[in-house]
Amino acid sequence: MTSPRKSRDPKTLRPATQLIHGGSLRSRFEETSEALFLTQGYLYDTMELSEARFKGDDPGFIYSRFANPTVSMFEQRMALLEGAEAARATASGMAAVTASLMGQLKAGDHIVAARALFGSCLYVVEELLPRFGVASTLVDGADLDAWRAAVRPNTKTAFLESPTNPTLEIVDIAAVAEIMHRAGATLVVDNVFATPLLQHPMKLGADCVVYSATKHIDGQGRVLGGVILASEKFIADHIHNFLRQTGPCLSPFNAWTLLKSLETLTVRVTAQTRTAGKIAEFLSTHPAVVRTLYPGRADHPQAALARRQMEAGGTMLSFEVAGGKAAAFRVANALTIIGISNNLGDAKSLITHPETTTHQRLKPEQRAALGIAAGLLRLSVGLEDAEDLIEDLAQALDKATLPRRHAAE
Ligand SMILES: *Cc1c(COP(=O)(O)O)cnc(C)c1O
Repeated sequence: MTSPRKSRDPKTLRPATQLIHGGSLRSRFEETSEALFLTQGYLYDTMELSEARFKGDDPGFIYSRFANPTVSMFEQRMALLEGAEAARATASGMAAVTASLMGQLKAGDHIVAARALFGSCLYVVEELLPRFGVASTLVDGADLDAWRAAVRPNTKTAFLESPTNPTLEIVDIAAVAEIMHRAGATLVVDNVFATPLLQHPMKLGADCVVYSATKHIDGQGRVLGGVILASEKFIADHIHNFLRQTGPCLSPFNAWTLLKSLETLTVRVTAQTRTAGKIAEFLSTHPAVVRTLYPGRADHPQAALARRQMEAGGTMLSFEVAGGKAAAFRVANALTIIGISNNLGDAKSLITHPETTTHQRLKPEQRAALGIAAGLLRLSVGLEDAEDLIEDLAQALDKATLPRRHAAE
């Protein structure tokens, strides 16, 4: 660029500004909106240039499985937001989780993970890694002694989510990072539920942060995506070659969608969090609701830790209705605005019944240990008007608590 205008070092900008301007790579057309480079490959002016690029002497693009300008913009913007040295985008959140673990591990190693994991993450830790000779131990994430006791001489990494799905339990990230570092192991945090705005795992000591960009980062239910954030060294040692050679790369189209979504992430997450707080307040006083789980409330079982570790309670809440599965189904079926779906972080409010969907594969005793009761519903709070959502929940809860009258209608 020959422009005489100076631009400020994006690292010194606040998150809302970084999310609008960070990482932009303008082409010579000086487009306002980030360009979508839907291309597999790149031309070289000369054979000498192609040789230099493959040798790493020229920084240009080679092939879109390795890097692509639109994907790079998304990675740069995410790295700025997270305060990470480096980022790599992936095709989905699960590709990010799998690469962040498989990239570090080899046969003979050991991994410790919190047992309250997203179903597919549990599969990777419990079933996939052991097939390649990596032993795994699952612990109660809230029990720091359990983390300490699980560490072995060959423990290489640990993995956790906080808040957890669906009971919104908080794991003490700084404490687990310290335990792992003392053992010479790393910590990977899946930060989906908290969002990059409300919790900063790397500042708390995590070595690597992963996201399903499918959730709040897209936030409008359109594309799948994922991202891995870490130091330059962590990416170089564990992630760079793994992703390049195995190929779970993010499509430039999806990267472009996510890049444009990041522009509104602050506005969306702030509004969704404010509404979630109001809904949690409403639910906590409703007679048909046995318990309300929201990390932003003083009655959350780990409220002090949540306050220390998170900037706000986030966009997710769970609540248990009296009357078990039948009552939970009646409530969800009676909703007129809130949709039934297992997605989360969306502009549309979505409700799911963990026992019969996301956690269906678990044994009853595993669900009991995680506090997943038959009457538990998980609500992802969207961007609708808070009063409309509360009215929707109120009429659905009223119907559910008067089952006979409505069954007869
Ligand atoms: C959705 C989700 C994932 C997986 O992400 P995909 O984009 O669906 O592959 C991983 N972890 C958590 C906590 C999630 O919510």
